[in-house]
Amino acid sequence: MTGEREILNKALEFHGHRCWASVAGVRVGLAALNKLGVKRSGGTQLYGIVEIGEDHGGMCFADGIQYTTGCTFGKGNIRKNPLGKLGFTLIEKATNRAVRVVFTAKLQPQIAASAFMQKRSAGISADEIPEAEQLELVDLVWNAPAEETIKVGEIFQYDERWVPEVMGFKPCDNCGELTALAYLRVVGQRHVCIPCSDYDR
Ligand SMILES: [Zn+2]
Ligand SMILES: [Zn+2]
Repeated sequence: MTGEREILNKALEFHGHRCWASVAGVRVGLAALNKLGVKRSGGTQLYGIVEIGEDHGGMCFADGIQYTTGCTFGKGNIRKNPLGKLGFTLIEKATNRAVRVVFTAKLQPQIAASAFMQKRSAGISADEIPEAEQLELVDLVWNAPAEETIKVGEIFQYDERWVPEVMGFKPCDNCGELTALAYLRVVGQRHVCIPCSDYDR
């Protein structure tokens, strides 16, 4: 897995520290790409749905997913279905072929017992935990056999009609700040941003 280790290292660099959930995200992302037989989304050819929620441990999963699949919140080709689960659905937009992949419960006792997670539970920030203890957990998750840790579903059709993005920005007629065209509101003769309009959204 030399090439894949390179992807892992770059993902962890982007993420900011080494942790089990981001590694799990990389593995799940790679498994999803592999099952669909597609490459990382340089544009928005792929769309992802990640099942982490808000304010819970393990959300780092989504950074591993984003780096590996190219489905990113910046490109807008990923969304959260907040279930608090380590599940991910990858869709090839041209064909609507999709697969759901999950990180299984298998390693959870070992993850919970690790020096890294003991320190996390004691309130120590992940990037302040000694590197050797970060790497111990990375290797545990990275090296575990795929058949026990990653569950890859069957390919199915995802029913979605994809809308094209609206290109272009214009300055708001009131405050002058650049605003995406789809977010300008018409007030009288003027095209203004949402805060300058009386609209909620
Ligand atoms: Zn993390
Ligand atoms: Zn404005």
